[in-house]
Amino acid sequence: MNRQVDVLIIGAGAAGMMCAIEAGKRGRSVLIIDHADAPGEKIRISGGGRCNFTNLNAGPQNFISNNPHFCISALRRYNQRDFIGLVDRHGIAWHEKTLGQLFCDGSSKQIIQMLVTEMNKARVELRLHTAVTSIERSGDGFIVDLAGERVQCVSLVVACGGKSIPKMGATGFGYDIARQFGLLVTETRPALVPLTFDEHTLAPLKSLSGVSVDAVVGHGRTKFAEAMLFTHRGLSGPSILQISSYWREGDTISVAMLPGTKVFDALRAARARNGRQALQTALGELLPKRLAQLIAENSKVDTHLADLSDKQLLAVEKAVNDWQVKPAGSEGYRTAEVTLGGVSTDGLDQKTMEAKSEKGLYFIGEVVDVTGWLGGYNFQWAWSSGWVAGQVA
Ligand SMILES: Cc1cc2nc3c(=O)[nH]c(=O)nc-3n(C[C@H](O)[C@H](O)[C@H](O)COP(=O)(O)OP(=O)(O)OC[C@H]3O[C@@H](n4cnc5c(N)ncnc54)[C@H](O)[C@@H]3O)c2cc1C
Repeated sequence: MNRQVDVLIIGAGAAGMMCAIEAGKRGRSVLIIDHADAPGEKIRISGGGRCNFTNLNAGPQNFISNNPHFCISALRRYNQRDFIGLVDRHGIAWHEKTLGQLFCDGSSKQIIQMLVTEMNKARVELRLHTAVTSIERSGDGFIVDLAGERVQCVSLVVACGGKSIPKMGATGFGYDIARQFGLLVTETRPALVPLTFDEHTLAPLKSLSGVSVDAVVGHGRTKFAEAMLFTHRGLSGPSILQISSYWREGDTISVAMLPGTKVFDALRAARARNGRQALQTALGELLPKRLAQLIAENSKVDTHLADLSDKQLLAVEKAVNDWQVKPAGSEGYRTAEVTLGGVSTDGLDQKTMEAKSEKGLYFIGEVVDVTGWLGGYNFQWAWSSGWVAGQVA
């Protein structure tokens, strides 16, 4: 005899738990399963252990998808203020770090505890260490084999996230379920990920590992103004993670390391003040010393300012504020914060996240082709898409 529940949710991450709470509140019997040892493992490690749980400015403009309009409905129906309200009701203290990004004052574990408490209140059954062996259609619902135990459900919610950080159990299983039921999956790739250089580009930059600047990093017309960090493999830091979601193999990115500063004017003024000053010393007043030294050496005019023509100073300005560099690749799913792409939104109802062609089958959170910028947007998508599915599943 099969066990029967109204709603079976695969994946006890941010999206799955939010959906479970909402469906449970409606009186549905809900079973949420996960193959991990604990629920919300990505919440736990997020935001450096403080969970950047949403963003004050979250809106459709902060998301990447083949259909940029798809996320609008869910983000409107359950927005950042709704989630902040939940956090406040649980007495969790938070602060805005920068650019609207909200973090817990204490620990990301408070967010997990809040979700688990809400699931308990809504009588949701959470089962860990549980994998899915097979899924079949059965009448209006589904039969899901949980390594021997067959569970019959009316609604099946797929909330197993993307492929990033396989060490934490990310599998891409959600894409397999989508394909099994004939849904399209768009190309997936690591996003919000450090970029790497080939040996030729890296060799002269190796001494800069650990140096950070407030930069504007661009790919075509897309630009992000945030910190950038030189690493022993290439570039990282928020501005690079952001641009990694747009960058493709073979593309060049542009970097301004002193955005808002007219480097040419500053060097000309320095030359007029003290022509005996070395270029790297003058640059060192504007940039970290190691970076100033490298730019001066690479410019092949690392001499006294008095010996430099305006044309040479313009070339230095270009090296500082219009550095064009071609990354060779990225650090991949090993360190990527999210997966770009996923279950195609063409096959999903934007109001409910239900598959258009498979009644009772839902996809929520990162497994869907909706990817947020860095800054709390990905969790907001998980809350919003989980919440809307929870109203109907
Ligand atoms: C290091 C790091 C830091 C991050 N920091 C932030 C941040 O501060 N702010 C932000 O907005 N976003 C952040 N993100 C992104 C964010 O964590 C994800 O976008 C979000 O967790 C997605 O939620 P989800 O519920 O869709 O998937 P997940 O949270 O990944 O949950 C999916 C769940 O499904 C389970 N699962 C997977 N496959 C199976 C299977 N076959 N059987 C059973 N269970 C399965 C997994 O164990 C997991 O518990 C960060 C990501 C990383 C990796």
